[in-house]
Amino acid sequence: MNILVTGGAGFIGSNLVHYLLGAAADEIRPDINKVVTLDKLTYAGNYANLDPVEIDPRHVFVKGDIGDGKLVASLLREHEIDAVMHLAAESHVDRSIDAPEEFIETNVVGTFRLLEEFRRYIVETGKDKVDGYGKSIGDRGTCAFLHVSTDEVFGSLGPNDPAFHEETPYAPNSPYSASKAGSDHLVRAYHHTYGMPVITTNCSNNYGPYQFPEKLLPLMIRKTLKGESLPVYGDGSNVRDWLYVEDHCRGLAMALTKGEPGEIYVIGGKCEMKNLDVVHAIINTVRELAPERGIKSPEELITYVTDRPGHDRRYAIDPSRIGRDLGWEPRENFASGLKRTVQWYLDHEEWITSIEDGSYRGERLGTLA
Ligand code: NAD
Repeated sequence: MNILVTGGAGFIGSNLVHYLLGAAADEIRPDINKVVTLDKLTYAGNYANLDPVEIDPRHVFVKGDIGDGKLVASLLREHEIDAVMHLAAESHVDRSIDAPEEFIETNVVGTFRLLEEFRRYIVETGKDKVDGYGKSIGDRGTCAFLHVSTDEVFGSLGPNDPAFHEETPYAPNSPYSASKAGSDHLVRAYHHTYGMPVITTNCSNNYGPYQFPEKLLPLMIRKTLKGESLPVYGDGSNVRDWLYVEDHCRGLAMALTKGEPGEIYVIGGKCEMKNLDVVHAIINTVRELAPERGIKSPEELITYVTDRPGHDRRYAIDPSRIGRDLGWEPRENFASGLKRTVQWYLDHEEWITSIEDGSYRGERLGTLA
């Protein structure tokens, strides 16, 4: 299988590329011949995230925009792509509130271009005529388009509402979630109208290695290590459902290879936590894993700041379908995943420093095609 991963230099994308070229071969047994990463390297993309696969001959990195139809068309043909795993996006809610346009451009228009080029490629190469077209790619492998989305498209839950599931109506509240909802609808329409074999996943909050330090966990780990105050929105009682990124990547690979075309799978760690409890857990885990640093206590570090406008109160996922139909279960709980995450940031302080001083956007890229 030749796979095109968009957004593969970002947080989840890079973890996915590592997974596809590593553990996936044993765990889900896809026959992976080549992984092509297409990434624009926005502020959130970091070529160093792909260091672990730099010398793997099965990996090709291409710097480019998913909205560049010509480039996408040529990559699909040149690399004889069988499957697209689409993760490229503008992904930070706060940025979408300050500057929404880029979110519409990449998340909606970019996804449309990608779908359209993939549709033309399928027809032109006759993949839609191959016996078994439109069935699960693992069964015989013609082609598939996996669209990676978020639980934020479903809006906000009250404290006693049932968790989001595949039939939950859409109610996006931020420009980010609205742009992702728009892309989900386009993907759905390409299946309904053209019969394109698409699969959509909507996942809860991820955490783990290589996450850009504007997001909650890496930001708080870093501030804890530096002894800076940790800003918590509102009273810290907003609830999120956390999933360790490697569990998400395994779910994506399973959805791609075993999932039913046209189907949606919601993915989550069955791990609802208040933001304030997450921040406490982070500080306590850093104190436990780096006792020599003399880290301050949660009471000394936490400060409360004015809440984000329109801040969703609660997200929660009921991942029964992917569990029942594909046999997926999260392997990490929050305590074990957090330990792995904090340890990774302790072992890779130069990775965060290179983002803080801006050098991650430096000359190394000059060597790329
Ligand atoms: P990220 O911001 O870390 O990475 C996004 C990547 O996309 C970056 O490498 C960036 O350079 C690239 N990119 C942006 N615009 C592009 C364009 N026009 N063309 C090509 N590349 C472009 O995001 P992430 O957290 O890794 O999220 C990946 C996907 O997963 C997104 O679609 C997001 O909506 C979804 N998702 C994320 C989470 C989460 O908790 N992080 C949860 C559920 C779903």
